[in-house]
Amino acid sequence: MRLSQMLFVTLREDPAEAEIPSHKLLLRAGYIRRIGSGVYAYLPLMWRVLQKVSQIVREEMNATGAQECLLPQLQPADLWRESGRWDTYTKAEGIMFSLIDRQNRELGLGPTHEEIITTIARETIRSYRQLPLHLYQIQSKFRDEIRPRFGLMRGREFIMKDGYSFHTSEESLKETYADMDRAYRNMLRRCGLKFQAVEADSGAIGGSGSQEFMVLADAGEDEVLYTEDGAYAANVEKAVSLPVDAEVSPFSSYEKRETPGTDTIASLCEFLKCSPTQVVKNVLYQAVFDSGKTVLVLVSIRGDQDVNEVKLQNELTKFADRYGAKTILTLTVPDEEAQKKWAAKSLPLGYIAPDLADDFIQNKKDVAPKFLRFVDRTAVELQNFVTGANEAGYHVVGANWGSEFKLPETVADLRKAMAGDRSIRDPNQTLQTARGIEVGHIFQLGTKYSAALGATYTNEQGEEKPLIMGCYGVGVSRLAQAAVEQSYDKDGIIWPVAIAPYHAIVIIPNLNDTAQVSAAEQLYSELNTAGVETLLDDRDERAGVKFKDADLIGIPYRIVTGKSLKDGKVELVERSTQQRQDVAIETVVSLLKEKIAAGLS
Ligand code: ATP
Ligand code: MG
Repeated sequence: MRLSQMLFVTLREDPAEAEIPSHKLLLRAGYIRRIGSGVYAYLPLMWRVLQKVSQIVREEMNATGAQECLLPQLQPADLWRESGRWDTYTKAEGIMFSLIDRQNRELGLGPTHEEIITTIARETIRSYRQLPLHLYQIQSKFRDEIRPRFGLMRGREFIMKDGYSFHTSEESLKETYADMDRAYRNMLRRCGLKFQAVEADSGAIGGSGSQEFMVLADAGEDEVLYTEDGAYAANVEKAVSLPVDAEVSPFSSYEKRETPGTDTIASLCEFLKCSPTQVVKNVLYQAVFDSGKTVLVLVSIRGDQDVNEVKLQNELTKFADRYGAKTILTLTVPDEEAQKKWAAKSLPLGYIAPDLADDFIQNKKDVAPKFLRFVDRTAVELQNFVTGANEAGYHVVGANWGSEFKLPETVADLRKAMAGDRSIRDPNQTLQTARGIEVGHIFQLGTKYSAALGATYTNEQGEEKPLIMGCYGVGVSRLAQAAVEQSYDKDGIIWPVAIAPYHAIVIIPNLNDTAQVSAAEQLYSELNTAGVETLLDDRDERAGVKFKDADLIGIPYRIVTGKSLKDGKVELVERSTQQRQDVAIETVVSLLKEKIAAGLS
């Protein structure tokens, strides 16, 4: 491609709308244009990158025996009602765009495709002889994200590879899951990314395993906790660890104390001269279930620990039945406004005890009349602890479960693991923290969707069984931007060869010099013929501008038909190292072919 004929517009200045380097660079280098919030156009250079990523993904998927297909993005609401997800995906913080057609039928724009694929399986899979089966597609997904940001990292329309597998047994599912683990590692390695596979939260589906693939970068929205030896790595949402030991309590008898102005753990510990590990703090949450019920939740946890809201949400989901619900719509710490809707009297915030009376809750139809009480394991072991007195300005000290306080009904692991905690696998190792960009997620689903939608098969014994499923996603457009986030310098993008839009760019410094022009034209044509994807910068611009642009768009190799042409040579510059060498014209094609092949292996 000739730059003179291309839509090629680069920007000198950083665009104001972008915060992180990869987003700035993709805009500046003319790869993407913002059309609306979380909505981007992929310009020709970007589209080539995306196609390369897609092709690598496709090759690795096909190698496992998975088959490519293309599913509709317009999805009938009825299917989502059958799975029970319509309300959660379209109401409150739901992320599905929904619409009504001219026949008054409700539809959603596909954020994911479990409902569609399970419907297909229900209608086409009859017998165990057809299994296992794995279908995947690469296409645009729509999600009305609450906070679209960072360009392609969190878009509202973005490209995903999503695959769904069907099995007769857990063992067969685990085999495909292991194949996907390998395939994903291959994809990311081939795309030139440094990554880490981490244990991930399986959400309310529970039980089975789930793993995320994180590209490590400071701009990542996820936190990863890992041990130096690599034996343990998990998303902080899922991570477990050993907390530091609690100090022995200085209080030996139960007593109510006046503790004015101590509504934070830090101020309380300073006032009482005790350690946060001797305090039971009681955190109030408000959950809204899809049945419309609001449930007030009280979590008792050791003072130095924080509640992991993902773990809490998973625990709460187990109680959905009790509230005539299937799932939770929102889980929040209620602010004053929210408290007004259910609090019968002013709450002793900052001074709450585990036994806060249920009569703090108004008698209302859609509010559960009792607190749902949880205690984290860290708080269960405490003796002679400090906690609130349910009265502003007062705490109690020397309290014990079983005497002054009844242990809350549900004991669970609800604490957030932190950097510096000891590892559960090996207590000699402490957890380290890093930021990660989630580019892939593989998931053992089990029978959640097949059971809900009635997708069954007949086994060897002639019995009808629900299909066992797995699902596997790669954020193709997010991955492409993550590659930039991991590889750039002050001059611009440094694409890994495998996903660069072009391998090489031939630059003519001076268009008036016919020797420069003809040497460049010849190399341009020979390189492309030899399979080295090459651009020709034949624009009527100053040489300096051309060099800057070539650096900015990040093409791995630059060839300049400049001064050394009189010795039969051209300059070859490697983008990643900025190393320059003069190369005899007749060896350029073979040399570049070699370098590109090395970059692709
Ligand atoms: P996140 O936690 O980042 O919102 P998710 O867990 O909802 O992602 P999945 O449903 O697992 O995402 O989707 C599979 C993959 O699609 C993710 O691993 C990610 O790479 C990509 N992805 C998800 N949401 C977006 C988005 N809004 N923009 C771009 N890529 C996305
Ligand atoms: Mg995910």
